Formats: sequence, C-alpha cells, structure tokens
Amino acid sequence: MNIVLLGAPGSGKGTQSHFLCKEFDLTHLSTGDLLRNEIAKQTPLSQNILETINKGHLVSDELIADLVKKTIEESHTKGLLFDGFPRTQVQAQLLDSILEILNMRLDLVINLLVSREKVIERIVNRYTCIKCGAIYNTLTKPWDSSTKCDSCGASEFKQRSDDREEVVLERYKIYQDQCETLKDYYGGDRGIIFPVDGDQDVSVVWDDIKRETTKRLGR
Ligand code: AMP
Repeated sequence: MNIVLLGAPGSGKGTQSHFLCKEFDLTHLSTGDLLRNEIAKQTPLSQNILETINKGHLVSDELIADLVKKTIEESHTKGLLFDGFPRTQVQAQLLDSILEILNMRLDLVINLLVSREKVIERIVNRYTCIKCGAIYNTLTKPWDSSTKCDSCGASEFKQRSDDREEVVLERYKIYQDQCETLKDYYGGDRGIIFPVDGDQDVSVVWDDIKRETTKRLGR
C-alpha cells in the first residue's frame, strides 16, 4: 500500500506521517528530509539546495526525481508514505511512472488542509530534537521542564533555517498554487484523494485520517 500525504508547511505532515507509518506499517519518505540529508553530506549540490530551501522555493523536479527514485529502489518495503512529494504535477506524473516500473501503485492521497494563521503559529514556534528529530512546539507541545527530549532524552533542540516567518509565507504561497493542480490530478475520475481539516488538534486530525484511510482501503 502506498499513500501520499499532501499539506502546506506546518500542516502537521511530519507528525501525522509518523502515526500513519506506525499504524499501516509504511516506510516514511520525506523529500524535505532527503534534501536536508544531501545538505548535511556536503555534496557539490548542497549549497545550491540550501539556498533554494532558505528562500522557500522548490528545488528542481529533476533533482527530486533522482532522489525519490533511488530511495524507492533501495527501500525494499511493503509500502511507502510520501511526505512533501509530489509538490508539482510533473512530480505527480513522475511518481506514477516510477511506481508503474516497479509494479506498484498509489492507493490514496490525503490532503491536509490548514489555514495561513495556523501555519505561522505552528512553524515559527517549531523546534526539533537535534538527535532524533522529534518535533516540538514551544506553545502547544513543549519538551519537558528539564529541557530533555521526551523521545530520546537529548537536550539540544534546533529551529530549521527555513522556518522564519517571511520564508514560511513564501512556502505557503507556493504550496497553495501547486496544491490546486494536484487536487485536480488526483481527483476527478481517479478519485483517490480526500481532505482532512488540519486546523484541529493533532489527535482529532489523526482520528479523522485513521478512520477515513481504514474505510477507503477496506481494512
Ligand atoms: P518540507 O520539509 O517538506 O517542508 O520541505 C522543506 C523544503 O525542501 C521545501 O520548502 C522545498 O524548498 C524543498 N522541498 C521538499 N520537498 C520538495 C519537493 N517535492 N519538490 C521541490 N522542493 C522540495
């Protein structure tokens, strides 16, 4: 089973991806994480990727295609959860053709909808654990009072360089423009997309996703 999770920056994709992978035994494939790994490896492409991300722009479809294809081929998994991919129609077509070559198919697309206000509130207060990547929010989900990560016990947290308000607004705008195209691509006759209200509390969003995913996959 393969699922795409669509959602603006700050829509809660990372958190909901974690729940989905656990519940439905899927492997998480986040193109944002793949790109951040490339930056960390300090390859010849790193500087260019970093500059693009820090402006809130999208990196090229060709680069994303290479990264995704390589990751899928190496994954040897029962199913994948695509987070942050596809972001353009070209990428959506590409995903279809990669899956077809590998004799796989896309079963479901979850469209996590979130308001601009909520996105800003979540992202500018978002921190991740430097060791395990657990996501925290200084307003809604702070780490414990002795400043230790609840998941791994580490005590250092960082904010992403592209989580500044002006960059977030740019990312949100680009996302909104592209998302309409993807809604059409997966809607209509194909009909594999469904919306979820991402402004709700995390647990309510998860209940909605779990219920609808289970129903649609006939589980
Ligand atoms: P994310 O972690 O999904 O919020 O992605 C962080 C940044 O990485 C985005 O703002 C883009 O600059 C870049 N990025 C991630 N996924 C893609 C993609 N599928 N296509 C192009 N750029 C991407």
